[in-house]
Amino acid sequence: VVVPQHSILWFRKGLRLHDNPSLLAAIKGATHLYPVFILDPWFLKPDVVGVNRLNFLLDSLTDLRSSLQARGSNLLVLRGNPQEVLPRVWKDWNITRLCFEADTEDYAKERDGKITAAAKESGIEVISCVSHTLYNTRDVVAKNGGKAPLTYKGFEKAIAALGPPEPPAEDPPAKLPPIGADSKGTDSEKTGVPSVRELGYPDEASTDIKGGETEALARLAEQLSDKAWVAAFEKPKGDPTAFIKPATTVLSPHLKFGCLSPRLFYEALQRVYSEKKEHSKPPVSLLGQLLWREFYYVVAAHTPNYHRMEGNPICKQIPWDDNEDFYRAWEESRTGYPWIDAIMAQLRRTGWMHHLARHCVACFLTRGDLYVSWERGRDTFDRWLIDGDSSLNTGNWMWLSASSFFYQYFRVYSPLTYGKKYDPEGKYVKHFLPILKDYPAKYIWEPWKAPLKVQEDAGCIIGKDYPAPIVDHDEASKRCIQRMKQAYDCQPGKAAQPVSKPAAKRL
Ligand code: FAD
Repeated sequence: VVVPQHSILWFRKGLRLHDNPSLLAAIKGATHLYPVFILDPWFLKPDVVGVNRLNFLLDSLTDLRSSLQARGSNLLVLRGNPQEVLPRVWKDWNITRLCFEADTEDYAKERDGKITAAAKESGIEVISCVSHTLYNTRDVVAKNGGKAPLTYKGFEKAIAALGPPEPPAEDPPAKLPPIGADSKGTDSEKTGVPSVRELGYPDEASTDIKGGETEALARLAEQLSDKAWVAAFEKPKGDPTAFIKPATTVLSPHLKFGCLSPRLFYEALQRVYSEKKEHSKPPVSLLGQLLWREFYYVVAAHTPNYHRMEGNPICKQIPWDDNEDFYRAWEESRTGYPWIDAIMAQLRRTGWMHHLARHCVACFLTRGDLYVSWERGRDTFDRWLIDGDSSLNTGNWMWLSASSFFYQYFRVYSPLTYGKKYDPEGKYVKHFLPILKDYPAKYIWEPWKAPLKVQEDAGCIIGKDYPAPIVDHDEASKRCIQRMKQAYDCQPGKAAQPVSKPAAKRL
């Protein structure tokens, strides 16, 4: 007797059909395929996931749904806690196999572990494939003597020992197995992609960044079509104030949600490099950026309590100030430093900023000026960034706050001169802080220095319409450096004890 094979392909990240080994595993010998995405209400709160990120996700689901429909299938968007939804539907649909992309984040590992156990108990085969990273993070750790490498050099050595990553998986066939005709709860009208309003968000998205595999592949092709640019790319040389045509690829939201496969990106980059006699190299090249991503994924997946300071063995223990006013002023673009405030305004409005702009605001909040914990800043980024990616966000915040990876805490970014170097006219500030749009270039980076008459003519009085600086940068940074030195001198000699709090959920 032939047993009908009914597979669920459970999308979470990996919102694409290309390089999707879980999809290929799901359709192997399957008579029916049920592609599902589960909207977990836990995430669907504006103070957890900002509207721009949610909108990007919904765009991506809409695109995935039409690609699946074009192949005779569909995307069933279900709602609820996956641990309740999946057992219900696998009974309703007589499921024999459950496939999903492996996820290395704490919350996902916990969730997937429970679901895998329940599925196996119900006699369901579970297949989970690695496709969100170039390598299986465990293989990298194994090549580094069983520990996560904590330097880029160590990481490069480990991956050199592994050889190049697997090429992308083959494309799925033009026709996919159908969804069972009379399967309960699969009515196309009831399983569509909702709008942000339908999900209870009060505002529409304010960004131009669009989600979806189609968009991701088009952007990849467009960015890599300028081969000379790709070959010459050196991250530290980019202009962080370029906002009309950003200095980097802006592929991060697509990589975060897996609308773009990192292995496809890797392969496409290698193709460009093979055609160029000379090209930049990691860590500053474009390939080097993709490897930074991989580096942080490896460390995140293999470090206990990676997402907090306490109990995190790779994180310096620093007694940050609990200063709510400073934190709020930073988050809400009210520090009085146009460079910092404009970057945070760009974050809220568009959900993306250049890497060096992220450096500046992260340094300012933590070791540079305000001495507020990196965990607070990380949470703000996690809410507003479209590419908000737990492994990368936390790793970079630890770096910028000199809590891990990087220890030159005395090298502080100046909020007065850094942006000005790239943009003497202050076009970036005027765009994202329109209240300052009529300031003359001479004062745009330090508006409090403008004579009152200039302030009046510009229609913006400092201290009334736009804040005076929240701290004096020279004094504050000196104080912070002193405090960092003391904190470094007082590090506990032994690794801190793990703290057992439930893993935070992250979308
Ligand atoms: P490109 O320069 O075009 O790079 C291509 C890809 O490489 C990126 O899309 C990204 O996936 C990866 N990449 C580049 N730089 C880094 C890096 N430093 N670390 C890890 N991966 C990198 N990136 C995120 O994707 N999500 C985050 O939540 C995030 N939080 C950050 C927080 C702070 C404080 C800082 C300083 C950086 C953070 N980054 C984060 C890293 C980096 O700023 C972004 O990946 C990059 O700016 C995205 O733009 P892009 O796609 O144009 O990058």
